[in-house]
Amino acid sequence: MARICRFDDDRLGIVEGEEVIDVTEALAVLPAVRWPLPPGDLLVAHLSEVLAAAQPLAATGRRLDRRSVRLLSPVANPGKIIGAPVNYLKHQAEAIADGGVNFERDVKTIAHYGLFLKAGSSLVGESEPIELAFPERRTDHEVELVAVIGRGGRDIPAHAALGHVAGYAIGLDMTVRGPEDRSLRKSLDTFSVLGPWLVTPDEIGDPGALAMRLEVNGAVRQQASTAELIFDVPRLIEYASAFYTLHPGDLIYTGTPEGVGAVAAGDRIDCAIDRIGTLSVTVA
Ligand code: MN
Repeated sequence: MARICRFDDDRLGIVEGEEVIDVTEALAVLPAVRWPLPPGDLLVAHLSEVLAAAQPLAATGRRLDRRSVRLLSPVANPGKIIGAPVNYLKHQAEAIADGGVNFERDVKTIAHYGLFLKAGSSLVGESEPIELAFPERRTDHEVELVAVIGRGGRDIPAHAALGHVAGYAIGLDMTVRGPEDRSLRKSLDTFSVLGPWLVTPDEIGDPGALAMRLEVNGAVRQQASTAELIFDVPRLIEYASAFYTLHPGDLIYTGTPEGVGAVAAGDRIDCAIDRIGTLSVTVA
């Protein structure tokens, strides 16, 4: 149906190929809100109305080169950024070989750890550089498929879970290595990259069959498929919603495959996921 982006000074775009069509006027269909704000992201909560308004605008809207605009996180105000620890077996194996992410003798999987939350203040889009707040410590890249919740709920069964997804995007779950809790080490400003845009589920098909790749300065570091997820997207939604009420715009970072590694100032990280596109971000 569509690829939706937020760009420049919070403008709304529809992406076609390498072009962004400015459909900002479609935001006029969003309801006026006042304190206290409704939970969740207003755009995602009203995505179908916004898209209906955007389609006619897209025929005549201003077209811009994707590379000439500043791409921001397509979800502006997620209530929760949910992370999935050790959700690929080969990533578990490399973490064990590496001495353990948390310096434990045995690194377990998501079935043991459950989920974690990242701070909303860590969220950025493709055009905002990753800042290494602690350059003396190892900071790793983790490329991940991200599911964006559209329709919220509690105790959502796996068989109905994909009906609650508004779309998918590429995520980078940046991580400072060390003994502290994940919610601290993965929540630094700029450590949750989301983009380059939001792709509606009809364009994705099966979220459990997407090839993904990450390169640093042109060298491939991570290459895998979401088919290798331990908890797939439906199971993650079922599991998360057994603990938290999910709201429109909540983000589920589904976990990273093997090949995580350190980045340094000046690096360029290029990520790709089938049917979504490519996301390129620099490390400041
Ligand atoms: Mn991760």
